[in-house]
Amino acid sequence: MMDLELDNKIVVITGASSGIGLGVARAFARQGSHLVMAARGEARLKDEVKKIIDEFSVKAIAVACDVSTPQGTDMLIHATDEAFGGLDILINNAGTGSNETIAEAEDERWNHYWQLHVMAAVRLARGFLPAMKRRGGGVILHNASICAVQPLGYEPIYNVTKSALQMFSRCLAEEVIGDNIRVNCINPGIVLTPDWVKTAKLLAGDKWEEHLQKVAKELAPINRFASVEELADAFLFLCSPRSSFCVGGAYMVDGGQKRTV
Ligand code: NDP
Repeated sequence: MMDLELDNKIVVITGASSGIGLGVARAFARQGSHLVMAARGEARLKDEVKKIIDEFSVKAIAVACDVSTPQGTDMLIHATDEAFGGLDILINNAGTGSNETIAEAEDERWNHYWQLHVMAAVRLARGFLPAMKRRGGGVILHNASICAVQPLGYEPIYNVTKSALQMFSRCLAEEVIGDNIRVNCINPGIVLTPDWVKTAKLLAGDKWEEHLQKVAKELAPINRFASVEELADAFLFLCSPRSSFCVGGAYMVDGGQKRTV
């Protein structure tokens, strides 16, 4: 049996109150990891943290903060230090899709996504690296997207900022591997999160499931969305010592969605 050796690790996850981030938090808790879970909306976040503590008997704290701001990332760094005195694993997951044209989108919009998808990861790396170095190493995993390498036409700002996040991940990996800190990037394809369901219901009403099936058929050779749980397994592996030779990579988990040419 493969032992992921994640029990008693301290794991910080941004965007942990919904979708992929929540699925990943629950997967770590199942392994016996302790959690720092961050998101802006406090009520939903606290609710999910409580459910995790009740179900898995691990330690977990909720940090309500906006990671797209320096104040938000500072809050997360201080709360982690106060609760656990450091961390082993950082997962930069908070993010969201966009919808615009390059001809019309204003600077402000570009800047917002840059702060959310890139600067959050930059500031959290800067803030958390000293603690990881003190502990003799760690893991940082960035959740970008297939859109970092294969754009979707309606969301150029998302594509560009996720691509920048992937390159940031690579640069950071080279800078810190000498400190025994492994940095990687994961690029999911379509994952069935509440947002996809909400949009499908808006677009197709009662026929939302058919709509999603059509989307999956168009985009992914596997003909379906990933579940949050199967994506979370890939996160666990990339954060576990079982992936000790994975450094500076960008890993597609996409049901074949990425085309080769
Ligand atoms: P969800 O919308 O379900 O969850 C997003 C999470 O991030 C929520 O917990 C949200 O809580 C939090 N969040 C959003 N903005 C901020 C912020 N500024 N500061 C702190 N927390 C924030 O999204 P998904 O699970 O679908 O997506 C998660 C990540 O996965 C994103 O980076 C996305 O780009 C990426 N991804 C998703 C795919 C998919 O098909 N779903 C495919 C490929 C990549 P709150 O709003 O309360 O802050």
